[in-house]
Amino acid sequence: MPYSERLKKVQSALSAERVDSLLVFAAANLRYLTGFTGSNGLLVIHERAAVFFTDGRYTTQAGQEVTNARVVVPKKGMLEAALKLAGQGGGRVGFEASIGYQTFARLAKQLGARRLRPLSGLVEKLRAVKEDREIAAIRASVDLNSRVFEEILPLVKEGVAEKDLAAEVEYRMRRNGAEKASFDTIVASGARTALPHAQPTERRLRGNEFVLFDLGAILNGYSSDMTRTVFLGRAGKQARRLYQTVLEAQRQARETLRAGVTGAAVDRAARRHISKQGWGRFFSHSTGHGVGLEIHEMPRLAAGDRSPLPAGAVVTIEPGVYLPGFGGVRIEDMVVVRDSGAELLTSTPRELLEL
Ligand code: ZN
Ligand code: ZN
Repeated sequence: MPYSERLKKVQSALSAERVDSLLVFAAANLRYLTGFTGSNGLLVIHERAAVFFTDGRYTTQAGQEVTNARVVVPKKGMLEAALKLAGQGGGRVGFEASIGYQTFARLAKQLGARRLRPLSGLVEKLRAVKEDREIAAIRASVDLNSRVFEEILPLVKEGVAEKDLAAEVEYRMRRNGAEKASFDTIVASGARTALPHAQPTERRLRGNEFVLFDLGAILNGYSSDMTRTVFLGRAGKQARRLYQTVLEAQRQARETLRAGVTGAAVDRAARRHISKQGWGRFFSHSTGHGVGLEIHEMPRLAAGDRSPLPAGAVVTIEPGVYLPGFGGVRIEDMVVVRDSGAELLTSTPRELLEL
């Protein structure tokens, strides 16, 4: 089982982080360290022991899923019971900095704020480097997502509403075995493609316009993420130039990416090409993000990311150009960061598709 190995890595990092115990609240981290798939749990990690707390709804499930930590289901007061254990011995208690204020206030009240130490990214950094079995799971999710897109293409016609296409996408994800969509499916048409995060509306597709799809599925806990922009009809000069610019920027980013290069360098590669075409200010988001148990995780491909990308990370590469009033194009693939370069996971063709 991978869970014990992952947990051991966290346990051996505790002393370097100057804490005697660590409280893990985040669902994706709990899943990564224990296999627990429920929505409410808390893991108390000491150097030589780990205890998993959950509530009465998950007694049976936690007993089945969590095999590398003792499972405790207090009759009431899960957090109090966990904090009591974490605080034993009077040492420093680490906690995930992402917890909410109310939870923090309870930690401070029970343990004393001076003993608490916020830690960010400890488990997330481990999660950034995928094991082979995780890459296989992600690949299966990516393939499912591509299959759904292929099934949707025949439905992309004049008169169909964006909302109906989005519903079809999510229905077909489930029919193909996905747990659910990894985020709300984006379908945008016409000038609305210039909104990078458009919500699907009742708007019906018309001829001679772009249609942008951004879709992702969750399969066996692992997410996929892909954007394709197609043209309904024959693309005119401006539309074609826009598409080719994003396509080339995406290719240049992909060719820049390999282990040891920074996220900033990959972002710069995409941005440089788009800026050369005069559209730099219309590329209004970062170039990519890690994908795994969460749809957005480490590492990021953005201007500020100065740490070298680790081999085994899985990221998206998704430059876009959004011209207000005209339309936008984004092309998004997923790749594995390798020493030799980017290993492409997405099999869907990315050349301009005119329907
Ligand atoms: Zn996306
Ligand atoms: Zn994305």
